[in-house]
Amino acid sequence: MRQSKVSEYRKLPAVDKLLSAPEIAALAAAYGSGPVTEATRAELDAARTAIERGEPAPTEGQWRTRITDSVLTASSSSLRPVINATGVIIHTNLGRTPLGSGAQDAVVRLAQGYSTLEYDLEAGQRGSRHAHPARLLCRLTGAEDALVVNNNAAAVFLALTALCHGREVIVSRGELVEIGGGFRIPDVLRQSGATLVEVGTTNRTHPHDFSGASGPRTAAFMRIHASNFKQIGFVKKPELSELVEIAREQGAARSGGAAEVVDAGAASEPAGEVQSRVYGDGPLVIDDLGSGTLLDTAQFGLAPEPMVQSSVQAGADVITFSGDKLLGGPQAGLIVGKAELIGRLRAHPLARALRVDKMTLAALDATLQSYRRGRATAEIPVWRMIAEKGDSVQERARAFQRHLTAARVESAVIPGRSTIGGGSLPGETLPTSLVALDMPRPDSAAASLRRAEPPIICRIQKDRLLFDLRTVLPEQEQALLEILSNRLPIL
Ligand SMILES: *Cc1c(COP(=O)(O)O)cnc(C)c1O
Repeated sequence: MRQSKVSEYRKLPAVDKLLSAPEIAALAAAYGSGPVTEATRAELDAARTAIERGEPAPTEGQWRTRITDSVLTASSSSLRPVINATGVIIHTNLGRTPLGSGAQDAVVRLAQGYSTLEYDLEAGQRGSRHAHPARLLCRLTGAEDALVVNNNAAAVFLALTALCHGREVIVSRGELVEIGGGFRIPDVLRQSGATLVEVGTTNRTHPHDFSGASGPRTAAFMRIHASNFKQIGFVKKPELSELVEIAREQGAARSGGAAEVVDAGAASEPAGEVQSRVYGDGPLVIDDLGSGTLLDTAQFGLAPEPMVQSSVQAGADVITFSGDKLLGGPQAGLIVGKAELIGRLRAHPLARALRVDKMTLAALDATLQSYRRGRATAEIPVWRMIAEKGDSVQERARAFQRHLTAARVESAVIPGRSTIGGGSLPGETLPTSLVALDMPRPDSAAASLRRAEPPIICRIQKDRLLFDLRTVLPEQEQALLEILSNRLPIL
């Protein structure tokens, strides 16, 4: 007994030897040598105490994990990169969408120094930050003008506040949705100062429901994409183009009595807030697409998610969608539509409060450039993941399993489904292959993986941990492999 303790003590490496290991040196470069040396000493002390209790000295891999854990626990940043092995492509809790390398580079390049954020190089004077993404957005969607704000929730709020305040907005009952995080369309409408007029029923709304409810106080017809649930069965709602048509008809019918319209609706409004004179006299059509997409999702075997271009073509006046759902870019709210309306949004005081930072604009611009070049499925991670064939994921999973076997970690490759997530394409899945590890205590194994660097988030199913490589970035696979090889056997 004594003898074996002595031999375990002998296995304890010197502090300097531990510190010179490449992983630990990298840790010191990232977190400072002081905290890393401190953590290493503490782990050596802990190992001595453990040997005294009769436990063996840590292995090389265990040293690495323990010191890393200890440094990370002590370092205060709780905002860290993780490996998403859940197979949920747009994972709201995990930062929604990873940026492509072009977008990452653009952010770094722009953040490093000064930029043309609000400077016009030609004129040598002040420019507008809004001009940068607008041109590309118009080219890609066919819209007249575009504006970018903090997120799509902000886009909806700005559009309603600037264009519908003090007037009525007609929405189908089936579209009065809660997006998540407490974002409910009826509440947003109320906050914007507009009055909600519900029409139709939960499952069926007809074009005549809109025309019947529309009157001089109507500012807009609003369509909201049911992003996170699906209605099936006896279901009907008007096409966007039908709403546009009704709005135009109403405009034509009203234009004879424009003065009357203004009087009826404008009692409490500042002059010029009444849209009827400027844009024809009908209600506006506002289309909240939620995710929206610039690529046709059907080509990947998924249900068709509404495309931004189609809404523009259908004649919607204002269209809002997210930057970090299927677009695959940074968090942002993208608004495209009629030039005159976008101009009003841009000039509204709220636009200043909701404006985006230069890093967002840089990432968005680079992401849009990928679409422009026709390289979205190659360069934008969410599209790369969606486009990856089941065979390809299976091949990666099998190769991964072989590496695990070599590291004496037993695993299986089983069929499963990846999901799109993030409030887009509800219920839609892609066939995938999962690396499955049987675990006597899967919850504590998963907890241990969450403490790794980088933390690993996986699925737990009964007595198994499941890893979907579809959402693991290729450059993270090696780290995932090492963590699984080093961590799981010691549980
Ligand atoms: C997701 C979503 C929003 C909110 O978008 P964020 O970019 O998350 O702010 C609004 N409307 C719909 C229909 C959505 O799906």
